[in-house]
Amino acid sequence: MTVKVGINGYGTIGKRAATAISAQDDMEVIGVTKTRPSFEASLALERGFLLYTDPEKMGAFKEAGIEVAGSIDELLDAADIIIDCTPGGVGEKYRPRYEKAGVKAIFQGGEDHGVAGISFNSTANYDESWGAQFSRVVSCNTTGLLRTLYPLDKEFGIKEVFAVLIRRAADPGDSKKGPINAIEPSLKLPTHHGPDVQSVMPWLDIQTMAVKVPTTVMHLHANKIELNEKVSVEDVLAIWDKAPRIRFVRGADDIKSTAQVMELARDLGRSRSDLFEIAVWEDGVKTVDNSLFYYQAIHQESDVVPEIVDCVRSMCKMEKDAMRSISKTNAAMGIPK
Ligand code: NAD
Repeated sequence: MTVKVGINGYGTIGKRAATAISAQDDMEVIGVTKTRPSFEASLALERGFLLYTDPEKMGAFKEAGIEVAGSIDELLDAADIIIDCTPGGVGEKYRPRYEKAGVKAIFQGGEDHGVAGISFNSTANYDESWGAQFSRVVSCNTTGLLRTLYPLDKEFGIKEVFAVLIRRAADPGDSKKGPINAIEPSLKLPTHHGPDVQSVMPWLDIQTMAVKVPTTVMHLHANKIELNEKVSVEDVLAIWDKAPRIRFVRGADDIKSTAQVMELARDLGRSRSDLFEIAVWEDGVKTVDNSLFYYQAIHQESDVVPEIVDCVRSMCKMEKDAMRSISKTNAAMGIPK
């Protein structure tokens, strides 16, 4: 028997979650929601997903000739679990509807930790969401930080982290946001990214700063970690090599910027040219005594997607072992490790 998944909000994350869930043999997408008729709504139908919307919106879909299977509340009643991929802050408003329907729900990083009381990362705390009604997959940046920090903390112990996040201004399909010709520092310091990492690793001493830059392709993090012991670059690379969903790239191979990382992603030929792994520059890692310096790049549109799949398995008690879920998700999505 497969777990029935509904996707509320079929945008950047929602459509990727739908593709990833459909690729698994133990879960299925029973429907996705749209608020307005659009090319994404038509394509969802073409891909075989049933469309749901609120009753007052159904007329607009009918006028546009786009078939709707039912109301969002009907989808909530039919699903075992909803993946809420609505814009940040909207998920919170849906929570009472999920509660009323008695359906499990996964929120995204645009919501506060409090919306679910549990935040999720496959490597760091898969077990915490076991059987839960609500959980939240942390943001793309937090997922990236957790993927590289958690294995280091487990192996060597981290004393403190200082991370500078250089953030993309908008997703590639978004023409409304900026800046388009400026660098915009986050003036509220330290930024919220540190506390977000602490929603999964509460013991971690981490401070963050962030700037937004005119690019759409990726975020980049410049990280300084103080470890409890002196380690070599080789020690660090060996840990990351074993850790899930980290991919090494090298300046020596002509990957000198996020542009070439995304060119690599396009060449991998995956769905939507996504890079689900965190790209770490192997030849940009340096240690000085107990300090570790490195750069990592985050494909903001896709790194959280395999975590969403694992979160379904944990919340629906489908696989007890985190590594087995990660391997199963990876195999279905073409992620090598
Ligand atoms: P998006 O704007 O691309 O998609 C949101 C979708 O929800 C759209 O299809 C929109 O029409 C729909 N929607 C809007 N209001 C709705 C409502 N009331 N009911 C149902 N659907 C509604 O947003 P996104 O980038 O996919 O972000 C979704 C969530 O994922 C946010 O919490 C965001 O912070 C988080 N997230 C985004 C990224 C990213 O880089 N895009 C990365 C990680 C996490």
